Amino acid sequence: MTFSKLGLSEKVLQAVEASGYLTPTPIQAEAIPQVLAGRDVLGIAQTGTGKTAAFTLPMLSRLEKGRARARMPRTLILEPTRELAAQVEESFARYGINHKVNVVLLIGGVSFGDQETKIMRGADVLIATPGRLLDFSERGKLLLTGIEILVIDEADRMLDMGFIPDIERICKLVPFTRQTLFFSATMPPEITRLTEAFLHNPVRIEVARAASIVTAISQGLVASASGPAKRETLRRLIRGAADFKNAIIFCNRKRDVAILHKSLQKHGFNAGVLHGDMDQRARTASLDAFKSGGVDLIVCSDVAARGLDIPDVSHVLNFDVPTHAEDYVHRIGRTGRAGKTGVAVSIVTPADQKYILEIEKLIARKIDWLAGESLVNLPEEEPGQSGPHGERAQRSRRTAPGGGARARASTSRPPDFGAPAAAAARPNPSRRREGDRPSGEAAAKRDGAPRQHQQHQKEDNSPVIGMGDHVPMFLLRPATVKPGKAAGDKGDPGKNTQLG
Ligand code: AMP
Repeated sequence: MTFSKLGLSEKVLQAVEASGYLTPTPIQAEAIPQVLAGRDVLGIAQTGTGKTAAFTLPMLSRLEKGRARARMPRTLILEPTRELAAQVEESFARYGINHKVNVVLLIGGVSFGDQETKIMRGADVLIATPGRLLDFSERGKLLLTGIEILVIDEADRMLDMGFIPDIERICKLVPFTRQTLFFSATMPPEITRLTEAFLHNPVRIEVARAASIVTAISQGLVASASGPAKRETLRRLIRGAADFKNAIIFCNRKRDVAILHKSLQKHGFNAGVLHGDMDQRARTASLDAFKSGGVDLIVCSDVAARGLDIPDVSHVLNFDVPTHAEDYVHRIGRTGRAGKTGVAVSIVTPADQKYILEIEKLIARKIDWLAGESLVNLPEEEPGQSGPHGERAQRSRRTAPGGGARARASTSRPPDFGAPAAAAARPNPSRRREGDRPSGEAAAKRDGAPRQHQQHQKEDNSPVIGMGDHVPMFLLRPATVKPGKAAGDKGDPGKNTQLG
């Protein structure tokens, strides 16, 4: 199969060739002719499958006829996060080099004024997060009645972030006759209901299920106690990583993202940070620094990093094992992209074993412990072990003659991490203090952050309430949320801030 057989315009084909793509991915091969034929498409696919080009390329072909009018965009793409929206904009820039399409980004965290000016000029493509889009529409600054193609991307992510009521409202604001392209990695009942309500006789295209993308990624587990010992384990992993270029490091909680980031910097690592409370400028700067190699490590939360397409990530390190198995698949999918291989290692404490079992069930395979690693060597965790007392105990172990971290690192270093670390991964004393302050105090309240039903978000610092992270997914779906039950954020910011 070649791109030239799919019915794309000459201009688009030239741009594809310039991108260096030789053959369409399965979702592209199946979806592009259907989109060009004007059919609604239900694509069950996630990032990494080439789905962005599956809608971008035929949209560009279709947009060659006609012109946009002021305030009335011709096509609308909804994305759950600002980063994903920016990524789709980049795709239009890449594949639209031969076109004169006016692409406008409507996301939170940037000024209304600039966006309004661009919309006034007429947008061929409007890429938006739901909150900011509705703001514009409600203020009468945007008319959705000219929309010819509506793309709803990462629908299950929208569900997790509580955006489904917004999506329903937006679907009612665009003309009934528009073409709808709907993408979701998974199809929980709420998403199925949405597709039944808003898609007209769609072509269903299903490619590589979430669990099957992990074959290009070598996965491993490393045992660790929690608290400062865990940060020490992480440092050992980074220093010992073979074929290391860079790493995305995931924490389950925003608070821990900030702590770990600071700790890595304190230990001389060249690390950036990305989480949902950072303002747009800080998020973009962090991502750009990582993409360009300015920093080798980026400490992230799930919310900030999910779906990001950074083509060349050698390692994903789960500082925390994710408590939702699907997040594991999304996290490790940040490496091993675009035909490359990758390494994903998770640091496992005794309390994480049940999550590992759930992950193994989802991906239908066992994840091996790396050489010398096993939880049986670890003492059972006791309450308060990760607090100051635990820290003191760790320190004294570390400094004990002939023992401590060095001995441990040399005996239990896993084979994948046995080679000397790349220079890039080594601590860089000259950058040690850079960005020491956790950036991005200003939380973007609307876009890129959940508006309601926030339970699935792990970016809060709340104490564990009820079942905490053990709440099954079906209980977290919006339909089951009792009105008036707020997810409070009463965490104690002073707790657990000691750096190892
Ligand atoms: P996506 O699933 O849209 O996030 O795309 C994942 C990655 O695959 C991106 O880095 C794209 O640039 C790349 N990609 C998309 N289509 C192709 C293709 N036909 N051949 C090779 N790489 C592609």
